[in-house]
Amino acid sequence: MPLKAKMHPPLAVSLKVPPAGEENAQFRALLRREGLRMTPERSIILEEIFKVEGHFQPDDLLVRFRTNGVRISRATIYRTLDLLVSCGLVRREIFTGGVHYERAHDVEGHAHHDHLVCISCSAIFEFHNSEIERLQEVVCREFDFEPHSHSHQISGLCAGCRQRAAAV
Ligand SMILES: [Zn+2]
Ligand SMILES: [Zn+2]
Ligand SMILES: [Zn+2]
Repeated sequence: MPLKAKMHPPLAVSLKVPPAGEENAQFRALLRREGLRMTPERSIILEEIFKVEGHFQPDDLLVRFRTNGVRISRATIYRTLDLLVSCGLVRREIFTGGVHYERAHDVEGHAHHDHLVCISCSAIFEFHNSEIERLQEVVCREFDFEPHSHSHQISGLCAGCRQRAAAV
């Protein structure tokens, strides 16, 4: 089964490639449309997000900034994440453990995937199944519906949690 276990942050500490010029341009274009400026705070948040591997929660960014002595408010982080979701650079997922963000799948190196979420330990597993992807297109055609994106999430119990429950 093409299943890759991927837990919540720990956030990757390694310095990843800085935001591609294209993504930066995409964000700037949205800000312009909204009549907003690319502030230093927005720029720092964008860069930090591009260093994160996998999922993160807004407070993870806050902790990261505080640790590095960067003063950015929680409100600014939330607002900037909203903007990044609007321009399609970041994907928002509501899981049992709260709202998670990750770089959008159409960003280089982040292939499209869907999620299995454990309701007991909040572990997140990412999967890609080409048959499921294909069938979603079939469904859209049946409804004469033009798909823009989808989010497929299965909640349940992971193997570890089931084993622990059985052992009690
Ligand atoms: Zn999918
Ligand atoms: Zn679990
Ligand atoms: Zn994911």
